[in-house]
Amino acid sequence: MRVPLIDLKAQYAQIRDEVEKAIREVCSSQYFVLGPRVEEFERRIAEYSRADYAIGLSSGTDALLVALMALDVGPGDEVVTTPYTFFATAGTIARLGARPLFCDIDEATFNLAPSAVACCLSGQCERVGADVINKRTGGQVKAILPVHLFGQMADMDALLDIAGRYGLPVVEDAAQAIGAELGDGRRAGGVGDIGCFSFFPTKNLGAFGDAGMCVVNDTELAERIRKLRVHGGHTKYLHDEVGGNFRLDALQAAILLVKLNHLDRWTRSRQDNAARYGRLFDDAQIPEFVTPPPAHGGRHIFNQYVIRAERRDELRSYLAEQEIRTEIYYPLALHEQACFANLGHAAGDFPNARRAAAESLALPIYPELGSEQIEYVVSSVAAFYR
Ligand SMILES: *Cc1c(COP(=O)(O)O)cnc(C)c1O
Repeated sequence: MRVPLIDLKAQYAQIRDEVEKAIREVCSSQYFVLGPRVEEFERRIAEYSRADYAIGLSSGTDALLVALMALDVGPGDEVVTTPYTFFATAGTIARLGARPLFCDIDEATFNLAPSAVACCLSGQCERVGADVINKRTGGQVKAILPVHLFGQMADMDALLDIAGRYGLPVVEDAAQAIGAELGDGRRAGGVGDIGCFSFFPTKNLGAFGDAGMCVVNDTELAERIRKLRVHGGHTKYLHDEVGGNFRLDALQAAILLVKLNHLDRWTRSRQDNAARYGRLFDDAQIPEFVTPPPAHGGRHIFNQYVIRAERRDELRSYLAEQEIRTEIYYPLALHEQACFANLGHAAGDFPNARRAAAESLALPIYPELGSEQIEYVVSSVAAFYR
């Protein structure tokens, strides 16, 4: 039996007619950039993430970039974030000439640990007037950027509490978490000051190319992001600041509008698959192997199903021999990346992130995965440790 990591063709087969009709409509209109389809998609995502405004953007990376630009993050500034995430989270900070101020993750959830953030702000930083300054570098801390990794939200109440105490805005990297919820129903993206989504094809809501979105509740921030999206000009050819081309295409919006109608069904399938894995792994009793912790009362959308395993690399090779595809998100924590050597970190500075990079393994969890395939994955893992 073959088990791919994701099967986009199986998903497309379910929605081909609807999607092709939507594409044909855009072709007939010859309206390709922004416009009515994008605006409709923005309204739907604002509603879906329970935020007031949504701004369609060219990618998840650009959503992060434009969010930080809208908060005036620039050269010499610092942004608190996690070292255990996709590169773009910290890469966008660096692209603006700012420094990622890494804080370690929670061991169980892989998400930014509020205790580490509190410790960093109280120990490594000081207040100068209303500003928060890193004592070692002299840089001003401008924002906190947690990631809702693998589809489960970070501990937002604790992070918002810390942010409030220091007067810092919070940008949510919700690229992997569309529709994820806290226990009280607040949704990923709509909780902090700015939420950033990616519609990269392998995300739970995936375009046919690159696409992204920012959601916000503040009218002025929404306006600022909308302006930055079109080179910083509100009125055509009049620029009061320098933005970029961060626009979303009508074709992507039209495809995503179709797919959004199926998202909750796909999410339920992912959750069912995770529950099935959980039951089977419990029965198999493999002490060398830890399944994801149960969602803390909220809604986990399982963009990935990530386990921790002893002898992870050997297990991964063994599964590959059984034609089971897995992936390592992420094999090297960001503080250890060559491009961040200038930050001067030692490998052991963030032990939980380092350990996660050594032990984590993503198993197939996509909605179309069959129960026999899940049984085969579990029995193969059990066979490896036996
Ligand atoms: C996918 C992803 C991004 C970047 O999104 P793109 O659309 O690929 O630019 C940023 N952060 C995280 C956590 C992601 O998973």
